[in-house]
Amino acid sequence: MEIACLDLEGVLVPEIWIAFAEKTGIESLRATTRDIPDYDVLMKQRLRILDEHGLTLNDIQEVIATLKPLEGAVEFVNWLRERFQVVILSDTFYEFSQPLMRQLGFPTLLCHKLVTDENGRVVDYKLRQKDPKRQSVLALKTLYYRIIAAGDSYNDTTMLSEADAGILFHAPDNVIAEFPQFPAVHTFDDLKKEFLKASVRDLSL
Ligand SMILES: [Mg+2]
Repeated sequence: MEIACLDLEGVLVPEIWIAFAEKTGIESLRATTRDIPDYDVLMKQRLRILDEHGLTLNDIQEVIATLKPLEGAVEFVNWLRERFQVVILSDTFYEFSQPLMRQLGFPTLLCHKLVTDENGRVVDYKLRQKDPKRQSVLALKTLYYRIIAAGDSYNDTTMLSEADAGILFHAPDNVIAEFPQFPAVHTFDDLKKEFLKASVRDLSL
């Protein structure tokens, strides 16, 4: 039995914080871990900015609902779900990803959680665990599943290494150069081919 583990942002949907910053015109929300390497400092700053603009979770979800999955992503997920059990492993938050997950048909998603108060203000966040993508692959392997994983960035590489087969999708050149052990593809058609190649089952359906 095989499970396909997929990263979400950059693979199936746009980078949510960046797209949100573009939609709202709040420039300071464009900062990522490349600008502020300490994730906790970065998240606290993001929550403070949301507060300064008086944005509640509802407002945020309304903006995110105007975003669309990447071109071809819905069709790809449907194709994959006919051939594998699909689990999405993401460093996003359930509450942020929900409008986009709806458009993908709500496949299984393991990610983090936001904490809101009674007025819908985002007051904190809860990370599920440390190195969550790798831990999830490890856990699924204890159920004797074979894992094929695909992701686009540094936060996916421990997941790709832990999987039986790892694939880079939409990865920037520096990630591709640093992890030459993984095949790197840039279109959903090529990603399908890599999943078929990585599978040990006969999937010619
Ligand atoms: Mg990503």
